[in-house]
Parts: sequence; structure tokens; C-alpha cells
Amino acid sequence: MRVNLLGAAIDSLTMQETVQRVAQLVKCGKSCQIITLNPEYLYRAQLQPELMEPVNRADLVTPDGAGIVWASRMAGTPVPERVTGIDLMLHLMPMAEKEGWGIFLLGAAPGVAEAAAENLRKQYPSLNIVGTCHGYFKEVEEEDIVSQIKAAQPHLLFVALGMPKQEQWIYKYKDRLGVPVSMGVGGSLDVIAG
Ligand code: UDP
Repeated sequence: MRVNLLGAAIDSLTMQETVQRVAQLVKCGKSCQIITLNPEYLYRAQLQPELMEPVNRADLVTPDGAGIVWASRMAGTPVPERVTGIDLMLHLMPMAEKEGWGIFLLGAAPGVAEAAAENLRKQYPSLNIVGTCHGYFKEVEEEDIVSQIKAAQPHLLFVALGMPKQEQWIYKYKDRLGVPVSMGVGGSLDVIAG
């Protein structure tokens, strides 16, 4: 079921159900985008309607933040719980390790994605991290980054460029990237890198 809030359709799923849904998206092999929708994004999208396009076309939209959960209750269509970017990313790791899914980390300052990869590998020794790249590239470098990601053939692409840049970046390139599941994760790589 999807819940409508200010023009955005949000999937009404628990974290566990969301993880199962992501597994289905990985298996179906299309180029899917997940958006963890927070109140700031939804607010900005009211002022910049073009930000709503990636949300309306996303394959999965999760309620990222207590404000969204609260608003869904006020609207009489409560979502079960908050599903934030970092929580979802971390909840996907055991399944990624078990299933051998390739993971690509894009974004944050130089060195951060590598440090995050190292910490993830400490916790999930068999995790298949197929590539990392920092997020301070120029527009002319984007073609190279797209090629790099394509060549690495990840199943999951985590993009940490800040909101809404990461959502727009994924939306722009997802069909060319051919990655089954891509999602923006904001400051998560900084958190995981420690
Ligand atoms: N970032 C980046 N490239 C940019 C702008 C930001 O890689 O051009 C990174 C930044 O280093 C940080 C993340 O994107 O790791 C954004 O984190 P923030 O907590 O600001 O994201 P939000 O939660 O606001 O989406």
C-alpha cells in the first residue's frame, strides 16, 4: 500500500518488509531507484516541483523521519515505522553478504567511502564491495564515474551526495548505469567511516 502525503506516494512497509522488497528489486534486475523521503525533501519539492519527478518515478519510497510518520498518522493513513537511509543501508548488509551482492559506494569526501568500506568489511567479512568513489567530482568527470560504476557491475549503489543532489543524480543516470538498486544515503558514509 502507498500513502499519499503532499503529492508524494510513500510505501507503507516495515523495515523488514522494505528489506524483502529490495531483495525482490535486486532479483528483478531493472534499474530501480529507492528514495528515503525526509520532511526537508518533501518541503523543498513543494517549492521545486521538478524534485517530485524522481519521487513519483521511484520504485520504492520510504518514510525517512519522524515528521513523515507523524504526518501520515495525522492524515489517517499511518505508515508502520520510520525507514531512514542509513538504517535501510545497514539492514541490507547481512543480506548483501549472504547473497553475494556487489556493492558500490559513491560520495563523501576523498577517502571516506574507502574507510566506510573497510568498516563494513570488518563487520561483514564476505561483503562484496566492488568499488568506491568520492563525491567531489566535476560535471565533466561524471561520464567516467558512470563508466566506472557500470564496469564494476554492482547490485546495490549507495550515493552520498546530499539531498536532493543524490536523488537527481541517480534519476539522471540510473538507466545507463544498469544497477538493479540505487539509493541516496546522505551523510551515511561519514557515519559508517567513523
Ligand atoms: N557530498 C558530496 N559531494 C557534494 C556534496 C556533498 O560527496 O558535492 C557529501 C558530503 O561529503 C556528505 C554527504 O554528501 O558526506 C551529505 O551529507 P548530509 O548529511 O549533508 O546529507 P543530507 O542528510 O542533508 O542529505
